[in-house]
Amino acid sequence: MNFYEQLVAEMNELKENGLFVTIRTLESAQGAWFEVDGKKVLNLCSNNYLGFANNERMKKAAIEAIEKYGVGPGAVRSIAGTMDIHTQLEKELAAFKKTEATLVVQSGFNANQAVIPAITTKDDAILSDELNHASIIDGVRLSKAKKYVWKHKDVKDLEEKLKEAKEAGARRLLIITDGVFSMDGDLAPLPEIVEVAEKYDAIVMVDDAHGEGVLGESGRGIVDHFHLHGRVHIEVGTLSKAFGVVGGFVAGKKELIDYLKQKARPFLFSSSLSPAEAGAALEAVRILVESGEVVERLWDNAKYFKEKLNALGFDTWHSETPITPVMLYDAKVAKEFSLKLFEEGIFAQSIGYPTVPKGLARIRVMISAAHTKEDLDFAVEKFEKIGKELNIIK
Ligand SMILES: *Cc1c(COP(=O)(O)O)cnc(C)c1O
Repeated sequence: MNFYEQLVAEMNELKENGLFVTIRTLESAQGAWFEVDGKKVLNLCSNNYLGFANNERMKKAAIEAIEKYGVGPGAVRSIAGTMDIHTQLEKELAAFKKTEATLVVQSGFNANQAVIPAITTKDDAILSDELNHASIIDGVRLSKAKKYVWKHKDVKDLEEKLKEAKEAGARRLLIITDGVFSMDGDLAPLPEIVEVAEKYDAIVMVDDAHGEGVLGESGRGIVDHFHLHGRVHIEVGTLSKAFGVVGGFVAGKKELIDYLKQKARPFLFSSSLSPAEAGAALEAVRILVESGEVVERLWDNAKYFKEKLNALGFDTWHSETPITPVMLYDAKVAKEFSLKLFEEGIFAQSIGYPTVPKGLARIRVMISAAHTKEDLDFAVEKFEKIGKELNIIK
């Protein structure tokens, strides 16, 4: 087989195992409803928690930023790519997050690549929750530190590993966890993690991609939600989910952010956010500073939808956030459910192994503040219809 034949053979294997990713194309803006592959459907699977991806104020801010600064930054941040719109975004984001400073990079993915290898050496230890996001796993791979993986949300196991690392003579102990776990919608036990970290003098880093704009006062994130300001050393966030744009950031003390500006490779070697992205993200921060109304609407919607589905007999697992897994357990059933939903005008993807464990396949519903009660009622009606057809509920 030549190179291309090898690639095709590997993809055929993915197809045989039901693991081949089919990529749908949108023909309209993100929103409660959108057009996918020529069909207008109710959108139940994007990360557009607050409806900001097509927000009028943010669109206007992006256009104004383009008029003033053009379309590209022209360089990496450390050479000639830092515009005052970037520093303004970092300043207002830090105030919003109630931290001393922030560093904005191109994506949440890049934020993890920026921090983890920059602050650890072969003399250090990294302790990572087994279900942490791929971008954390890759960031850890880039570090020469010794790696310890602790059982999901198991702080006892974390403490064992901390002891082990300390006894092995680690200089720094860096604990990393997702804030909200994106497949189950459950929260990291951050208060307990912080307590054990303080006992061992460890550094705590939380990647709150699904919590930024969602948890805490006006969407200030999981650290605010648990009132842990000043006790979590590093917050990583994304501007690509609830904030509705694209980009990532690191929030923390000034010394940390100053250091990252010297050492973080995605900051030093990849161009900065475009002016439109920075301008739109800045407007998102301003909207949230003005009012938490849209965040409250998100939570109202999530609660409403979950209660209706539970009343029908569906299992929504241990979700504590607007991420709503509708458990179907069997991967084939989940796939069929998703296809039937699409026929009925609802776009909600099924998720199976290896993204979630075998036997825990589901439809993952992402609730948004952009949904109206009528949209959610429409969805509930279709879930009921298909659930009965497939004998999931009575
Ligand atoms: C989505 C996600 C990211 C990636 O964010 P992008 O801005 O899309 O690159 C990183 N970490 C976690 C935990 C995520 O859920």
